[in-house]
Amino acid sequence: MLAAPPSIPNLEEIERLNQEFEAATPQEILRWAIETYRPRIAVTSSFGASSGAILHMVSEIDRTVPVVFLQTHYHFAETLKLRDEIADRFGLTVENWEVWGGRPRFLAHYPDDLNKLETLDGLAIPEAAAGKVHTGIDLCCWHNKVEPLERALRNRLAYITSLRRDGGSERRRRTRILEFYQRPDRPEPTVKVNPMANWDKKALWRYIHDHEIPVHELWAEGYKSIGCAPCTLPAQGDDERSGRWSGTQKIECGIHTSQEPLNYSI
Ligand code: SF4
Repeated sequence: MLAAPPSIPNLEEIERLNQEFEAATPQEILRWAIETYRPRIAVTSSFGASSGAILHMVSEIDRTVPVVFLQTHYHFAETLKLRDEIADRFGLTVENWEVWGGRPRFLAHYPDDLNKLETLDGLAIPEAAAGKVHTGIDLCCWHNKVEPLERALRNRLAYITSLRRDGGSERRRRTRILEFYQRPDRPEPTVKVNPMANWDKKALWRYIHDHEIPVHELWAEGYKSIGCAPCTLPAQGDDERSGRWSGTQKIECGIHTSQEPLNYSI
């Protein structure tokens, strides 16, 4: 007889697991998440500097877990090369999610470059969750990243990220290993799984070296956090995200900040 699938945990169980998982390895957390939510789970990846580590771990557990990639069409050529190399080497399937209605429709609506940083300095707009109007770089990120991710997750119960608490911003410092979201347009909650939340840079790079994981080519040129080409410069100093939206107030694209998880208040 087939074993019954694990039951889907509720908010209280998520909190109990969060305490337990603080002492677990990323692989143990991933195995739990994949066995609990398969086939309605995906892993998200920007194919940035060090994205290969989490994808390698996922591929060692279950190669059928799809990889959600937000194809903004503003990526560096090196990012797309890394995406294809990692997918091929680890045997993973990448889903490319892009702006609603497709790129030609987006360009027809916004013929001027929304992401020209020099014309948009100081226009960082509050979160989508606050129902505010978006302009400039926030509008560009909303169309090309936040909304496509929402669509990619619509029929999924859980998704995996490589967020770390030492990743720079105050929001990232508060990352829980399991975060619980109740979206207004969905009857079922979504669980965000951050298995590397309590890893630091050193542990990550040790894993990358030990497993000979491919690294983004621009890393060697000083790019430590790599997003879209118009909005990414080499990092300055130790802050690996300092090259993102450089010269503006913006520090996050919105995919990790458009909604507060329910269990931040617990
Ligand atoms: S990072 Fe820049 S180019 Fe990419 S979606 Fe955001 S504003 Fe647009």
